[in-house]
Amino acid sequence: MMFHKVLILAPHTDDGEFGCGGSISKWIDEDIDVYYIAFSSAEKSIPEGRPKDILKKEIQEAVKVLGMKKRNLILLDYPVREFPGYRQQILEDMIKLGEELKPELVLLPSTQDTHQDHQTVSQEGFRAFKKISIIGYEMPYNNLNFSTNLFVTLEEKHMDRKIAALKCYKSQLSRTYANEDFLRGLARVRGTQIGSGYAEVFEVIRWVM
Ligand SMILES: [Zn+2]
Repeated sequence: MMFHKVLILAPHTDDGEFGCGGSISKWIDEDIDVYYIAFSSAEKSIPEGRPKDILKKEIQEAVKVLGMKKRNLILLDYPVREFPGYRQQILEDMIKLGEELKPELVLLPSTQDTHQDHQTVSQEGFRAFKKISIIGYEMPYNNLNFSTNLFVTLEEKHMDRKIAALKCYKSQLSRTYANEDFLRGLARVRGTQIGSGYAEVFEVIRWVM
């Protein structure tokens, strides 16, 4: 990989693992410094009877499974589904953290993502990081369309870690897309497009060389 420092912007805990968990695991194997910012731990979406901070604990376990250092995870507390009302604050957080972390590549939700929180992170992420390379990760259940123009090939071990990381989200396992067959099938489809085994695919939003 041509970059040494990568920043993942996830609107909610687990978006980064779904969108690019395999790539995170691969890059960590290549000694690339990967940072992960989650803008919400979605306390309002926690099922009744579960502790409100459960997603904060689950994401810490999940990124550990991917091989990330604990200190590279940054958790913010924006209210889920209300990001559009906090655009300016989110942008300012991104600019501040961008100055501290100095990433060379940023991953964020696709420009085709229809979820309001994802749109906010995608749009403000572009504003904050438009001077460096930016790619959008794939979330088929959210995306209206998707440009499959950048592929990251994955080995079995990267795919296994992505699945294992997502299994750390025990409070979310009832979601239809938290399904191992779906995740492996999608990665097979993307790999087959380039004559390979597994892959994750990205929308190139900005590329600086
Ligand atoms: Zn999300």
